[in-house]
Amino acid sequence: MKRISELPENIKNMIAAGEVVEGPFSVVKELVENSLDAGATNITIEAEDSGLKKISVADDGSGIYKDDISLAISEHATSKIKDIKDISEILSFGFRGEALSSISSISKLTILSRNDNEQIGAKLVAENSKIEVSDYAGAKGTKVIVENLFYNTPARKKFLKSKSFENRLIRETVFKIAAASYETGFKLVLNNTKPIILKPADSLHQRLSDLYGSDFINGLYFEKVKDLKVTIQGFISKPDLVKSSSKYQQLYVNGRFIDYKRMSFHLKRAYEAIIPAGKYPVAFIYIEINPELIDINVHPAKREVKFFDSKYIDSLIYGLAKKTLSGKEHNINNPEQYIKSEKIITENESDFSSNTSKETIQGSLYKAKESGNEFSFPNTYQNNDDKINEINNYKKEEESILNPVKEGKDIYREIENDYKYIGIVFGVYILIEKSESLKIIDFHAAHERILFDKLMTKIADNDSQELVFPEEVELPVNEFEVVKEKLNVLKERGFDIDVFSDNSFIVRGQPTILQKVNLKKIISEFAESIINENDYFKDFDKVLIERIACHSAKRMNDNMTKNDIESLLDEIFSGKYDLRCPHGRPFVFNVSKNDFEKIFKR
Ligand code: ADP
Ligand code: MG
Repeated sequence: MKRISELPENIKNMIAAGEVVEGPFSVVKELVENSLDAGATNITIEAEDSGLKKISVADDGSGIYKDDISLAISEHATSKIKDIKDISEILSFGFRGEALSSISSISKLTILSRNDNEQIGAKLVAENSKIEVSDYAGAKGTKVIVENLFYNTPARKKFLKSKSFENRLIRETVFKIAAASYETGFKLVLNNTKPIILKPADSLHQRLSDLYGSDFINGLYFEKVKDLKVTIQGFISKPDLVKSSSKYQQLYVNGRFIDYKRMSFHLKRAYEAIIPAGKYPVAFIYIEINPELIDINVHPAKREVKFFDSKYIDSLIYGLAKKTLSGKEHNINNPEQYIKSEKIITENESDFSSNTSKETIQGSLYKAKESGNEFSFPNTYQNNDDKINEINNYKKEEESILNPVKEGKDIYREIENDYKYIGIVFGVYILIEKSESLKIIDFHAAHERILFDKLMTKIADNDSQELVFPEEVELPVNEFEVVKEKLNVLKERGFDIDVFSDNSFIVRGQPTILQKVNLKKIISEFAESIINENDYFKDFDKVLIERIACHSAKRMNDNMTKNDIESLLDEIFSGKYDLRCPHGRPFVFNVSKNDFEKIFKR
């Protein structure tokens, strides 16, 4: 073992910086929170080269005393607490006094500040452990400039993701903070592009609507519950507003964004049987609690909080969601859970028989044409363990009497001879009978799979068709920015689209395959799937194709003829396709005669 020696101060700071500064977005978070702690009413954030070249945050807050300015960047120096007991009463974002010192150890840091009570302020420049302070005669408030972030920690720099991903993180950071600090105005300028401006708002409601658009806010219920020590309020999804990830579930405790994993779980409980599997309700929940009842000093970046009684908090979150939903009318969109087990079905026998009305079963009966063709199955199709596993995870098949049919060839072997088309139920599912079993096919999902595969292998038409009337598509600003960055992906797939205003595009043409489609919806969904994905390696073209396939796949109400259905069935069972939609949901289910006999206890 070598001799022990104490690390030099600057190395200590660089190591500590690793905990506070994960990427450019963390710098933005720390600086903006300092501005809020200083009581700013307007904050301007600018970032160049995704924050690596320069980040600046300017505010009109209280400013720093001239004589304190070098203290601001020394380690564990803070104006927010004086004693350890103050932490238990903390209402400010900061208190550890380590952000500026950490940041200054891995960048060139400049602070320009003038305090309310002083005529002359100070300018500080810190670079390579050298600090220079001079007079500054600017407006009241503070501007912090961080340049060449990570210049001396190349390892950290290497771990950063793509530029556009880091940009997105910065934007999300500002949005997360802004979604709670609604009285403060924000201006965000990324890479010298057009600024995103959020005016000071007079309510959370107003701020959320400025952030995500009025359609979004109209899809939410609002509820507020007060208890002795706690106030909890939240904007929570109406059953129609669902997202494909839990990203729009945000918890704030005393104005601070908190990563609270259990929230998603409790929301899921509250929305059980209301929201389809794999979908997530939106929830912006704000808890105001006596700071003595929480411990925020758990994580250097203060992303977590310890509640002294987390069960109580959990019950509040669940209770709020339940209260919000109660008394409001909604349809049960998740019948799945009612057919989970044999037991439930036998208990609900009467429901079961009323659903399968005679009319449906006998309506449009016909025999499918015989087919004697031989089919071979591509190898890729057989080595499908991963995919099958995915399907298995998706559904606990053992519990269900409905068995997804996994492989095209299996069912095809039965179907190639003859099958009896029974009809369509609920406008969605095709029923066919074949050799002692009933097969249920989700028509839309099946068509989606076929279109997806064809588009991916470029068999299908990628042509563009001019719109008779160009359409303006307005989006919430976070989605707008993502689409703007990926405009070429849309263009390559046949969208004739350009930026039109600060938050809208003009679409003059679209892929021919789309036909009648809600352009806003498809473009917004494209953005959403990118935002929801943490994986910056994402194949954006594939994301778009998924959306195109989903929107061009036929739905039952689309006036399908007998021939349409027949040729779709032929194609599904040709053995060329995976029997699951592009998102992994199986679309053919099998109920054997045996299963029926079990249900009816024969
Ligand atoms: P902390 O926020 O935990 O106190 P920081 O390192 O972030 O630690 O900041 C150190 C100190 O610098 C703060 O306590 C505050 O007094 C001062 N300061 C930093 N940014 C600002 C700002 N924008 N306006 C006024 N004072 C600031
Ligand atoms: Mg701070």
